Amino acid sequence: DTVPESVAVHLHNVTFAYDGQAQNALDGISLTIPAGKHIAVLGRTGCGKSTLLQLLTRAWDPRQGEIRFNDTPLVEFSESTLRKSVSVVPQRVHLFSATLRDNLLLASPNASDNELSAVLEQVGLQKLLEGDGLNEWLGEGGRQLSGGELRRLAVARALLHDAPLMLLDEPTEGLDATTESQILDLLAQVMKNKTVLMVTHRLRGLANFDQIIVMDNGQIIEQGNHAEL
Ligand code: ATP
Ligand code: MG
Repeated sequence: DTVPESVAVHLHNVTFAYDGQAQNALDGISLTIPAGKHIAVLGRTGCGKSTLLQLLTRAWDPRQGEIRFNDTPLVEFSESTLRKSVSVVPQRVHLFSATLRDNLLLASPNASDNELSAVLEQVGLQKLLEGDGLNEWLGEGGRQLSGGELRRLAVARALLHDAPLMLLDEPTEGLDATTESQILDLLAQVMKNKTVLMVTHRLRGLANFDQIIVMDNGQIIEQGNHAEL
């Protein structure tokens, strides 16, 4: 299998429950996202937004229903092709106990030091380059990052990874207004030719999305564009 140039996402009647949970986290989700379209996902805490994104990375398999990228069932992708097809800014960002360089290279193993430094500057993390530069040790036994720095690191990884499908789980949560608009401008540039699912609590900026879906209790309860909703 090869990495698709663009990804249309199809979910057909997808149901999922976490192990040991009586209630479905996702309950009969059907959704089509044409290639290159941008979808905002809204809904109150616990309604299943992050779970939906995680199923698209095959972190979990649906109990029922099917997910396809273009015409290919998600289960048929190899692990490595799937990874190259999807960029993720997860809600909980994982920092490895490793150098700053290695914390970025996992997203793009062949990136040069110059590229890594440029991306750090783009996301406003140039401060991390003071001291030991890309050799700075992060995580356990090294420098810890604030919540906002972690989110910006995750955005940097997603920019480096540069996959045709982007899954963004509240990419600007916890950032101040200025940093938030910088990051959103940056994302807007890279999102242009990509398929995007973005979980957000921000009502500002929703007009920029092709579709808005509102979830509740694992279901899609409303769907439409900004003018319709
Ligand atoms: P938030 O806005 O707070 O991030 P969310 O819409 O992203 O919420 P999910 O994280 O998808 O919600 O959770 C959906 C439901 O599944 C919740 O009831 C949650 O408690 C449950 N859940 C999430 N992750 C797990 C897990 N690893 N094991 C068991 N239950 C989980
Ligand atoms: Mg969530």
